[in-house]
Amino acid sequence: MQPERSERFRAARTAHFTESVIRETTRLALRHGAVNLAQGFPDFPAPQALKDAAARAIADDFNQYAITWGAKPLRDAIAAKYLRHYGLELDPEREITVVCGSTEGMIASLLATTNPDDEVVMFEPFYENYGPDADLCSAPRRYVTLHPPDWSFDPAELRAAFSPRTKAIVVNSPHNPTGKVFSREELVQIAALCQEFDALCLTDEIYEHILYDGAVHVPMMTLPGMRDRTVLVNSMSKTYSVTGWRVGWVLAAPEISSSVRKVHDFLTVGAAAPLQQAGVAALSLPDAYYQELAGHYQRRRGLLTAALERCGFSLNRPRGAYYVMASADSLGYSDDLLLSSHLIEKIGVAAVPGSSFFHRKNLGRRFIRFCFCKKYETLEQAGRLLNEAFGDARNA
Ligand code: GLN
Repeated sequence: MQPERSERFRAARTAHFTESVIRETTRLALRHGAVNLAQGFPDFPAPQALKDAAARAIADDFNQYAITWGAKPLRDAIAAKYLRHYGLELDPEREITVVCGSTEGMIASLLATTNPDDEVVMFEPFYENYGPDADLCSAPRRYVTLHPPDWSFDPAELRAAFSPRTKAIVVNSPHNPTGKVFSREELVQIAALCQEFDALCLTDEIYEHILYDGAVHVPMMTLPGMRDRTVLVNSMSKTYSVTGWRVGWVLAAPEISSSVRKVHDFLTVGAAAPLQQAGVAALSLPDAYYQELAGHYQRRRGLLTAALERCGFSLNRPRGAYYVMASADSLGYSDDLLLSSHLIEKIGVAAVPGSSFFHRKNLGRRFIRFCFCKKYETLEQAGRLLNEAFGDARNA
């Protein structure tokens, strides 16, 4: 297309969008045959019980639209799980919306609750979708820095990000990309500001069951004053190792859910009907399933962090989720883009440049994000490749 034509047909709100760096890194990994520790999806099989339930649902002809805001049995199963795990009582008829993954959950929630020029606060680094999500709503972003090595924030900086223009804050805990699990005290500070400034808290809780070293996940919605001020976004993707199914949910007070449901309806009509049926089987799994999941991830975390540290990377051990932000300063790399290209093209291991999780790119240059939601063999292979390339820092 001629330049002026492409200009004419490109909406201003998309003008500065780039390809997601996470997805781009996966493409490069495929092209160079590198072990993909970039995009956070498991390379091991999904639970057999879920695959059976999905196949059965298709055979039993759950093949037409489900109710727009979610098949009733799945909404009931979601309500039962939140009651069982957190004592949260949710009305499946008015407070639960099933969506196409938490990606849709977050953008639908923002579209449903913000007007142009309402401000949205987010912690930096952040999962890269939140930026474009706010931009698609024409909602200016305000950032609060999470400071390495422990990714803590300064309460004064948090307060300074809030103003009468703030409509919402996005809180992702356990956190992608750092592995931070926000403490109850930190969540209470955020909750107090939401109440003082009459703002919503949009929470991305997709790693809720992937926790280490006794870390505890506290849903913001359970804190005093936050029940009707929180929009909780979650999905089956990470907990049940089915990132390609695209089944998620949004939990919110009835008046908020009502707008989220309308946005969801016009965006997508609904999530895949047979996979919603399989979701009932997933959400009804016993507690042992979640303990086992966390146990396996703890071993995977151990494998990857040991391999990275052996090579001389420095890192802060994640307390949740399945990523680690590592710095290769002591290996002589201070530019994440160069390091990422070198890793993919010369060493055969793909990881995401840290700056892609930052608005202020310079804050992320020292970091590179590895994920460890992979088979033990995959992580061992990556460890071998890194070791061959960088040697053993302990002998240096
Ligand atoms: N959440 C995963 C990650 O951060 C996958 C993101 C995606 O590509 N949808 O890598």
